[in-house]
Formats: sequence, structure tokens, C-alpha cells
Amino acid sequence: MDGIARRAAAEAATYRSPYDPEGWLHLANIYFEFCFNDLQVASAHKAIYLTNQGLDLKDKHIGQKVREAVGMRLSCPFNIVIVDELEHALTKGYKALLRGLLEMSAYWDGLKEAKRAFEIFPANQDILLLQRMMKNEFHMRTTAIQESNQLAEDIKHLSRIGRTFKRKYPWLEERLFIRSPAFLGEINTSFNSTNCEVRPLFVPQIDPNTSKPRRSYRLVTKTSKQHLAAHPFDTGTNVGPLGVFAKRSIHKDEVLLTDHNLTVVPVTPSKKLQHCDACHALLIPPFLRDGEVRRPPCCHNVAYCSIKCASAALNGYHKVLCGKDFKWLYKSAANKELDPSWQPGALLRILAIVVADLRATPSAKMHPLQHPLLARLTAGYESDPSQAKEQVWNYFSHVIAPTRILAQLGVDVFADPLWSAEVIHCIYWRIINNACRTSSCTVVDGKLEKVTLSGIGPGYIFFNHSCEASVEWMGAGSCEGAARIDAAAAAAGSATALGKRRRASEEREALDGEGEREGVKVGCNALLCLATRGIKKGEEVRISYLPPGKRQQLGRWFEGGKCICGACDGEGTS
Ligand SMILES: [Zn+2]
Ligand SMILES: [Zn+2]
Ligand SMILES: [Zn+2]
Repeated sequence: MDGIARRAAAEAATYRSPYDPEGWLHLANIYFEFCFNDLQVASAHKAIYLTNQGLDLKDKHIGQKVREAVGMRLSCPFNIVIVDELEHALTKGYKALLRGLLEMSAYWDGLKEAKRAFEIFPANQDILLLQRMMKNEFHMRTTAIQESNQLAEDIKHLSRIGRTFKRKYPWLEERLFIRSPAFLGEINTSFNSTNCEVRPLFVPQIDPNTSKPRRSYRLVTKTSKQHLAAHPFDTGTNVGPLGVFAKRSIHKDEVLLTDHNLTVVPVTPSKKLQHCDACHALLIPPFLRDGEVRRPPCCHNVAYCSIKCASAALNGYHKVLCGKDFKWLYKSAANKELDPSWQPGALLRILAIVVADLRATPSAKMHPLQHPLLARLTAGYESDPSQAKEQVWNYFSHVIAPTRILAQLGVDVFADPLWSAEVIHCIYWRIINNACRTSSCTVVDGKLEKVTLSGIGPGYIFFNHSCEASVEWMGAGSCEGAARIDAAAAAAGSATALGKRRRASEEREALDGEGEREGVKVGCNALLCLATRGIKKGEEVRISYLPPGKRQQLGRWFEGGKCICGACDGEGTS
């Protein structure tokens, strides 16, 4: 039997009796053999968790299920035998975990776990050996980093992180990684722009008016070919890489996109009830009248700026978040236990949206990676899997935290194969590859202050990078954003047109009291994209992911650290 088939058989056996630690231990060993150490650690983590629950004889929930599963396998109902089996499984679980952490160079995590294991099994020679190896490696690395003259904070961080590879798991179905032409249509339906749309990057696009190929067709360069190899397309099922294109000619300072969303959230939780829980708009006067604030019937922890926001939250993500305490997650971020690239608020919101939507439509049998929010994102895998780049990894961020979040959101992380460790990792890479930071407004001591938000702009993410960008972006709800929107509106129409629009919107609001305001609210999380120069019809519009002078960091997104702009491609060929 080949590797993939053996893995599939072991996985199927595990899910037939998902509360039996034995299945997870077997999977951990297979992943060790195939060098998927991230999954080895995740499987060992599940085995250890289940074993500990099973050994707690008072646990009538998961613990009971574990004892039943083990009893069934052993054909023996007696706890004394089951406990013996579980203790044996616990040593195996720790050995698998420690071996995995060692392989991933996560020595700091490994030493912490070895200490824990040692308290339970003080005489175990294998654990002692693994602990010694881990100590040596950790010591060697710390010495090497200290000699490299880094800041104390960096030394601490670098000595503690592990490494993994960003790669596709070869057994996951291809359909989980493609965007179909129909889905592209869906993307454009919700793309909040009058002058731009999302189109495939590399398909020849014949403009029916001029019959000339669009700029995108002529943009095939050496680096773009690499990009294409990483995102293959075929006209029937997969549109390949996407970009944003001008539908008509656009002048400087025109608004290209106002990206309303539920997924760009404050980096540190905002003051309770001061902001709309969905769109982060300020809920206090004079920004919103008291009577306009919507409070949910379920709890007193959140409020909304409009019926639209309230219904998006209450029919969706808030259903799985209501009444749950995630202080531990924010605390872990403050303690730097959580990888700083993983924002706790955004992660929690994105997972809650997907979990709630999947639960609302069980008949659709949607895979989490096919949820419209996640399916639109690409992870930026290398075209050649053997060239997969090393990425920062730690046990808490990649295994403990997401498993615990999902369990709190009501997902059965043991029995539900849709939420396997590999799916969690795929989601992680997609979020990291697309997340942005922006700013908006909050009120501190009666004054407007800047606040940092982070997350996924569902339309914004389609802008590709160029070092010669034609688009700038900012928080629409920030003071600067609000001023720019007004200026753009004034430039677009005459002052009377603007006045008319305002009056019409005020009248409509006065009529039903619930009318959606034109534009954006102060403090909201929408991302605003504006043209920095005139743009021709059919041209691809691009933003810069990095401020000027930081081009050396392009390697985070592009093979060889070069984007597909003229400047980078010129460098590549010269
Ligand atoms: Zn709102
Ligand atoms: Zn609630
Ligand atoms: Zn470039």
C-alpha cells in the first residue's frame, strides 16, 4: 500500500472511533514517517487530550466517551484495565509529541512539554532522552542567536519559535484550492465598486469594444509565469490568479472600492458597547443617536449600529460566540504565546463566521475551505512543493489555540473530519497571506483617537501588489478616510448633486428610521481604496503591500522576492 493510501486508511480508522486515542497515535506515527511533523504534533495533541480526559474518571462527557471507546476496542468494560491502557497511551502520546516538536525545531515548546511528561512519568528513559536532545539543541540555538547581536526581545522570540513548511497536503482534494468561474461571478456581485471588477489575471481578455487584448494579457513576464505555475487555471473549473481591473477610465482620487466587512477587527478589544460589534462604527453620540443603537435579545455584551449589522451578526457569527469567554486568547496574544502574525480577534471572528454558516446550512455539506470567505483567499504556496518555504511555527498558535477555539465554538474537533489539523493549517496560511492592518477611530476621554484594526478585507484582498501601485488604501472610518470620501464625492458630482444625495438619504432615513446611510460611518472597519493617478479602462489596478523602501520584504509573498511589476521584472532579467 502506498503512503497516501496508508494515511487514508489510518485516518478512516481513526474517525470510526474518534475518541479512542489509539487512532490518533497511529496517525501521529504515520505523519512522523512521512515528515508531516505539524500533523504529527496535532495528532499527538489530540491523543494526549483524550487520554487525560479518559483518565479523569469523574469526567462524564468526553472522558466517558474515551473510556467507552477504549473498552469497546479491548472488549473489556473494567476501568482498571482501561486506565492501564490509557496510561500506556499517554506515554506514547508524549513521545510522539516530543519527537514532532524536536523535528520542527520547536525546542522551547518541547522542553515545556517534556517537563510536563516527566512529572507524570519520572522514570521514562525515552522521555529523558528526548528532553536531553531538546536541551542541547535549544542551548546551541540560543548561543548562535546571542552571537548574532540581535535585540534581547528578538533573541527571546527567535530562540522559542519552531519551523514548518507551507505546503499543500497532497491528499486534500484539488476542489478545495480552486476558484470556479461561477464563484468569480459571486465575488463580483459583492465587490462594492462602480468602476472596477475582479477578473482572471492571465486569461486573454478580448475587449468587445476595441478587440485589443487587455493589459493583463500583455503582462506575461518571467515572474508572472512562476505565479501562474503556482495557481494553474483552466477555463472550465478554475479561474486561476485574480486581480482588480478598471471597468472604465478612472481619474486621480476617485474611490475604487469601499470594502465593508465583518472580518477586520480591533487588535485589542474595543471598549465595551462603544463600537458596533459587526462593523466597528462608533455607537456614541454625536456619531450615532442613542435611539439608533441596536441591542440583541441574547446578551448585553454587544450592540450594533444598524439592523443590517445586527442581523448579519445575530443570524451568523454571534450565534456561536454569544456567552463564550475568549479572554484566554487575548491574554495569550498579550503574553506573546500566540504568534504575533496571528491576530486573535480576526482569527476568532473568521472561524466563528465559517462555523456558524456551516451549521446554518448543514444540507449544503460545505467544506470550510470552500466557504466564500476562505475560498476567495489563496495561501501563496510555492509552485514546486520541494521548494516550500520555512515558516514560523509554535505549538500554541498552530495547534492548541485553534483546537480550543473550535471546541468552544461547538465543533467536535475529534469526530468532525471537516475540521482536521490540515484544514486548520490551510486556513492559517490563507489568513496570513491576505491579512492587512489598517486604522480607524475610537473615542478616548471624549477625544477621537486612532485605533489599529487587522483582518481580511473580502474585496480588498483581490488587489495585487505592484511596486508601481496606482491605488492607496486606508480605513474608511478613520478621520482621513471620511475626509477623502467627501472630497471624492464632491469632485465626482457638483455640490448640488452631493446635497441632493444627502437630502435623499436623510429623507429616507426619516421615513423608515432604519435606512442605511450613504457612505461610511465614523469608526467603521471598511477599507477605502483610492486612485493615486489616472487609470485607463481595462488596466489592472494594484496596491503596494509595503511602504516605499521595504521592497526587500517582498519574499513574503513572491518567489525570489520579486513581484510582477515592471521594476521587479526588469531587475530579474538584467
Ligand atoms: Zn455596524
Ligand atoms: Zn448574545
Ligand atoms: Zn515590484
